[in-house]
Order: sequence, then C-alpha cells, then structure tokens
Amino acid sequence: MNDKAVAGLLDAAAVRLGRTLGLDRREARLEAKTLAAHAWCVTPAWLIAHDREPVTAGSANRFEILLARRLAGEPVAYLTGLREFYGRPFHVTPAVLIPRPDTELLVEQALARLSPDTPHAVLDLGTGSGCVAITLALERPNAHVTAVDRASDALAVARENAARLGVTVEWRASDWFETLEGRRFDIIVGNPPYIAANDPHLARGDLRFEPIGALASGRDGLDDLHRLIARAADHLQPGGSLLLEHGYDQGEAVRACLAAHAYAEITSWTDLAGIARVSGGRLSE
Ligand code: GLN
Repeated sequence: MNDKAVAGLLDAAAVRLGRTLGLDRREARLEAKTLAAHAWCVTPAWLIAHDREPVTAGSANRFEILLARRLAGEPVAYLTGLREFYGRPFHVTPAVLIPRPDTELLVEQALARLSPDTPHAVLDLGTGSGCVAITLALERPNAHVTAVDRASDALAVARENAARLGVTVEWRASDWFETLEGRRFDIIVGNPPYIAANDPHLARGDLRFEPIGALASGRDGLDDLHRLIARAADHLQPGGSLLLEHGYDQGEAVRACLAAHAYAEITSWTDLAGIARVSGGRLSE
C-alpha cells in the first residue's frame, strides 16, 4: 500500500492514536477519519471513496499537526470545533463543556413536561455551549427559553450556536439566579458542575482541557447542586419542575436535598448505562 495515500495515512494515524490514548481499533479509526476530514475539509465519506488518492505534503502536514495535538490529549471536539447533540451540530471551544450524550436525558425529561401548544417559560442554568437551551427552543417553538451562564466567553459560543441553528433564546450573563430577581419559570433545568474538586478524573482525558468552573464543585461535587436546589424555589411557578443532571453516585444526595426543600414527586432517571443521572421534582402548589 502507498503510505502517502489516504488509507496509509489513516492506518498509521489510527495505530498511533490507539497506542497513545488507549483507544480500541474502532475508536482510533473513527478519530483518525474525523481529524483527517477536518484537516482536509472533506467528509468522512470522501475519505472512504478516495482512500487510494495520494496526499500532498501540505495536506499530510495539516493532518499531522492536528494529530499531534490529539496525541497530546486535546479533545477531538475542540480540534474540530464541533460536537453533535440531540442530532444537531454545536460549535464548541475550550470556553464551554463539550456536550455529552448523558445530557440528552435532561432534555428528554424537560420535553416530556413541555406540551407543544403551551407557551411555557423555561430556564437553563449554566448553559455553556447552549446545547440544552437551544435544543429545547427548537423542539418546543412555543416555549420562551431563558439561559444563563456567568462566563461571557461561553455565552458568546451559545449565541453563535443559536444564530446558526436559527432559534431565539434569551441569553443572560448571570451567576446562577443572580440577575433573575423576580423571574419565575415553569421548568428549570441545569447541568451544573458536579465533580469533586479532588477527583483524579479531572486530571485525565478530555476533562483536563475543559473549563474547570463547568466541572468541579466543592469537596463532594455537590456545592452547586445544593445551592441551585435551595434557590430554585424562588424562581419556579407553583407546580413547576426542577430537573438537574448530576454525578453517577449523587442521585440519593440530590433527592434528599430536593425533599428537604419541599419538592414533591421526586424522581431520578437513568442514563443508557442504567445509572441515575438526572433527578428532579415539582414545587408543591
Ligand atoms: N458529565 C461530565 C463528566 O463526568 C461532567 C459534567 C458536569 O460536571 N456537569 O465528564
């Protein structure tokens, strides 16, 4: 095989990715293709159809630069600037958490409470890339979606995503409820930071490159979840729902906190791996 052709370069890259990052063969090939497609401005399908095509030195160099950054640990989503969430492409930068499939569970539970015909007011706390707020606004055009983040560089990414996906969201620079005095919502959702500050995972994989303020929250990771649950009651309509994503081992603590703040119908929902990942309740009427 010509090692200066597309297939040869992809094979060699996949081997290096597998070895260095501990990826299995399928993941390594997928990452190699994603990075090459980005470096060469082609689709992954083009790479397959043109696998014998020779690659110019310039193109090979562009691919090598991206590959070296990936081998040093940078997340694929930051290298390509894109991550899919709920079937739509979101622009991401290191200013925002990379959307996770787990968070689609938060969206699903919110959608289950948002009838398409009612003009519900929805609040997304710590919106980051805007993936939750924008998805809810697109899926429920009748809803008025407000989204807050204290990081202005994150809000800039969210605004750009909304403009590109053609949807209106009310964006606000706000440290949680800080600038929402007197505002009440039918549904409040959030994917706050919830990792324990000393969790060794923060020093591994993609997390090393993500904004620490979107990941870590105090000694047990529960500081922001506790704070949000305590304050949300002042911003919910009677009977309104609060839905929060949390860590794999935090379901019990989050349910107990909801119960202590007079929420009813307290439930946790499990992700695809069967782990309680989102919990919520309704504010008693
Ligand atoms: N779900 C992310 C992770 O465990 C953390 C996101 C968050 O803290 N909200 O990698």
